Amino acid sequence: MEYPDRFDVIVIGGGHAGTEAALASARMGCQTLLLTHNIETLGQMSCNPAIGGIGKSHLVKEIDALGGAMGLATDLAGIQFRVLNARKGPAVRATRAQADRVRYKAAIRGMLENQPNLTIFQQAAGDLLVENDTVRGVVTETGIRFRAETVVLCTGTFLGGVIHIGLDQSRGGRAGDPPSNALAQRLRALPFRVDRLKTGTPPRLDAKSVNFAVLEEQPGDSPTPVMSYLGRRDMHPRQVSCHIAHTNERSHEIIFANLDRSPMYSGVIEGVGPRYCPSIEDKVHRFADKASHQIFIEPEGLDTHELYPNGISTSLPFDVQLAVVRSIKGLENAHITRPGYAIEYDFFDPRDLRHSLETKFIHNLFFAGQINGTTGYEEAGAQGLLAGLNAARRAKGLEAWWPRRDEAYLGVLVDDLITLGTREPYRMFTSRAEYRLLLREDNADLRLTEAGRELGLVDESRWVAFSAKREAIERERARLKASWVQLGTAAAAAIEAKTGKPLAREYSLLDLLKRPELGYGDVAHLTGEPVGDEAVAEQVQIQAKYQGYIDRQQDEIDKLKRHEATPLPADLDYAQVEGLSHEIRQKLAEARPETLAQASRISGVTPAAVSILLIHLKKRR
Ligand code: FAD
Repeated sequence: MEYPDRFDVIVIGGGHAGTEAALASARMGCQTLLLTHNIETLGQMSCNPAIGGIGKSHLVKEIDALGGAMGLATDLAGIQFRVLNARKGPAVRATRAQADRVRYKAAIRGMLENQPNLTIFQQAAGDLLVENDTVRGVVTETGIRFRAETVVLCTGTFLGGVIHIGLDQSRGGRAGDPPSNALAQRLRALPFRVDRLKTGTPPRLDAKSVNFAVLEEQPGDSPTPVMSYLGRRDMHPRQVSCHIAHTNERSHEIIFANLDRSPMYSGVIEGVGPRYCPSIEDKVHRFADKASHQIFIEPEGLDTHELYPNGISTSLPFDVQLAVVRSIKGLENAHITRPGYAIEYDFFDPRDLRHSLETKFIHNLFFAGQINGTTGYEEAGAQGLLAGLNAARRAKGLEAWWPRRDEAYLGVLVDDLITLGTREPYRMFTSRAEYRLLLREDNADLRLTEAGRELGLVDESRWVAFSAKREAIERERARLKASWVQLGTAAAAAIEAKTGKPLAREYSLLDLLKRPELGYGDVAHLTGEPVGDEAVAEQVQIQAKYQGYIDRQQDEIDKLKRHEATPLPADLDYAQVEGLSHEIRQKLAEARPETLAQASRISGVTPAAVSILLIHLKKRR
């Protein structure tokens, strides 16, 4: 049958990409349909119930700054929060939260069900309606036809999914869920480049069978950090500790002795797995000289005894999984509640996408999430938001929007994917961004919320809160700049006591804040009232301390923009340009771009490479 209502945007898949895509499109006023296998699994965390971490929390905060759901859902469901790299600079600082998976799902479902313009429908999509290379709608596996202007595909690990436990295989999208085979076949018939990737998950444990007394306890941070810019500590449920265990030589012996029963080492799995989240058999094989690997024993929620042993993802047979687990101190009597497994699935070469995440071959069709070769909820959510936004803009006849690499990790993520492609599951790291000091997790709102408001993604309450914060930062900076500490005063004595050095002259509070040994708390109260809002104080402090570096990065970006029209000589010998990779030299020599702007648009030519070209040109003159 043909469904009577027509939609602007259809999103297929209610995982992390699909939920952000559907919410973004609906927030922009488009009639949106979220078509998903099972309403009970909306927002389900297929693997570790944790959000954030290095590079990843930057994406969560960007999603949040653009009005998305992930940050707030984490604040409503987080049962342990920590700031990673707390002692390092603000560019690499990251927030990580262990979530209660049931509460997380409930939070996401609540937001979806309460979102105006959004309709949810439970059914598998089996086919796409495509006419003249343009998508027109979706047909479910039971034959219901839905029509729309644009379609966003967010099917995660489900396309042609095959689950491996030892040498046993079964078809599935993840444990307990069916695969998407009809849709996978349909997509393989379209002109996309398709390949296989794999990922894995550890066995889960029953906490009642674990001896916590011999494990190291790891409590969350106090005061507890929040994930969303609108988050408050009183939103968090009860907080709990994680624990740390270790594999040992016996565990490694068991794994080595059974490698021939591993689907990865016996050649049964062909898909490439995540390099930075390897299975325990991978770790033991690759780092054979290491006698022990750390395992974080993490609770899956407040109302369950299930534990997630982070660090022993595996697809070894169940009897080997049990023997490995029981070889570990504290887990000698552990009961496994669910076996670990690996899953192989289809992904599409993201080089066949535009920056908007629209496919190059089928108009009005967008891809987001694991289907594009990424791994992780945060990477999926960020792409989902962008694809939902652009699907909505296309439906409204508007131009596409995306952030540049110097504006957001989301810009880095999409640019990396569509220019470089990926051969292994792609995850975000701070090292992937050239302008790390500008793209901090603490300033994602200052970077993106105004754009989000103009795009129609940011609602009134977020906008009011953001505007008040931005004004408070400016006011406080101005106050510190105008407040002077005179020599011989009590304020000067306080500074001298703190630094152990006499003040040479009078200083403004803002100048004093630039000193490494002084923090906001040391100077702000010396004349006048400090601000009560921690986020405002943090921002004022970071901006003051890193202003020099931030200005330098901004200059570099401005310089690159100014030089975009610079011509590249036709006889330029790229082999002689020092600092370029072999791959980039080859691409430039083949393409022979006429200007730096053209060079920068060649797939794989990074802003750093453009900078090197610019220096080379200056030397030639
Ligand atoms: P998913 O979260 O997979 O959501 C896809 C959604 O689409 C599901 O709701 C599904 O029901 C629906 N769907 C699929 N096909 C159809 C259809 N035809 N019609 C209707 N609905 C459909 N990430 C890490 O960062 N680290 C890890 O170690 C890690 N390990 C993992 C281990 C396993 C076994 C799995 C399965 C995933 C793992 N992940 C890991 C990945 C993480 O779960 C994904 O990156 C993330 O969930 C991707 O989000 P997504 O929205 O793209 O897809």
